[in-house]
Amino acid sequence: MTEQAPIVIVGTGLSGYSLAREIRKQDKDIPVIMVTADDGVSYSKPMLSTGFSKGKDADGLAQGTTDTMAEQLNLQIRAFSTVTGIDTRSHELVLGDERLVYSKLVLAWGADVIRLSLAGDGQERVFSVNDLMDYREFRKALGEGKRVAIMGAGLIGCEFANDLRNGDYEVDVIAPSDVVMPGLLPEVAANAVQQELENLGVRFHLGTVVDRVDRAGDGVNVSLANGETLAADLVLSAVGLRPRIELARSAGLETGRGIVVNRALETSAPDVYALGDCAEVDGHVLLYVLPLMACARALARTLTGERAEVSYGTMPVMIKTPCCPTAVCPPPPEAEGSWAIEQDGTDVKALFKSPAGDLLGFAVTGRFAMEKQALSREVPAIHG
Ligand code: FAD
Repeated sequence: MTEQAPIVIVGTGLSGYSLAREIRKQDKDIPVIMVTADDGVSYSKPMLSTGFSKGKDADGLAQGTTDTMAEQLNLQIRAFSTVTGIDTRSHELVLGDERLVYSKLVLAWGADVIRLSLAGDGQERVFSVNDLMDYREFRKALGEGKRVAIMGAGLIGCEFANDLRNGDYEVDVIAPSDVVMPGLLPEVAANAVQQELENLGVRFHLGTVVDRVDRAGDGVNVSLANGETLAADLVLSAVGLRPRIELARSAGLETGRGIVVNRALETSAPDVYALGDCAEVDGHVLLYVLPLMACARALARTLTGERAEVSYGTMPVMIKTPCCPTAVCPPPPEAEGSWAIEQDGTDVKALFKSPAGDLLGFAVTGRFAMEKQALSREVPAIHG
């Protein structure tokens, strides 16, 4: 390692670019190189599930090209460069045949979509959307098609269902759970969101799974385990994400559900850090924007000379189902307590309270969603 070696950030998603911006607030000149497997175009990933509602295609959602980002941030960006290994002893990043020396290395390489293996010859009509390039492909493949079958009724499946209906597409959602967004929303709030999505025209097929996808003309037939067959132009798979840990594990870094880091975002290897969807920060894997922004602020200070630790406050999740505005702050998984429910149709206020009456989490839908800020102030911070 030489003294002039740059800070290298792997990934130009929200984590990578947020960190680069925060570094530049602290130090205008420290050498930084960003490396990314994709095209390096800057965009806000949450906007991918709002494209039809906002009338924006992939180009409309792009916020900056690699060149404009490199100029704005005064750094180098190497697009279409896939990292294949890390040599932590020599402080080198491996990019195929090439090696890139780093002074500090930041892994901001996100999470992979989970792909289900399905029977049938219609696989090339099954898409996942986890970045802007995926979204471009999905919109292109949809073409003049008007029918989309979504696998998965989690946050992303429900958001896409709402957005596609807003774009006047026919939407079927298939999921093995009995409710939407299980594990995120209490049942009463989940039922409210489902009801409003159904009122919008979304058809749910819950308690079953997709068995096979077969070509049928320009579209597909989607066969479900419950015996139903649905006709669709394409299938959108939204069955979950898994932090990218394999390369880190091969390099000898400690991994769990994500790349294990402490509150200073330090991995188990010297001068290697991680944040965003790939990281398990002090035991928390949170695949959301607010945590990664907090991490980016703390890490920028550490990388520019003043070691800082991240402190998560309360982090409510806003679910972008405009037909039923929803916010949730899930209680800690092991928390003792019970839900107190106030309900008026699909307007739900669900408060999770400890036996002593303290508010530990909440879910609010419809007109109660406006109370999210006030309720967030009452809920204890994740890092208390
Ligand atoms: P990514 O954006 O996935 O970036 C990873 C980067 O690493 C990419 O540049 C990729 O090319 C690069 N990379 C990967 N592997 C390699 C490699 N081997 N070599 C080189 N480069 C590599 N969160 C919210 O808080 N609110 C929301 O409303 C919300 N809505 C969402 C809607 C959708 C449709 C989706 C998919 C997610 C949503 N999220 C939301 C989650 C949020 O967008 C993510 O948590 C966040 O964008 C993750 O950013 P990241 O930079 O960590 O990862």
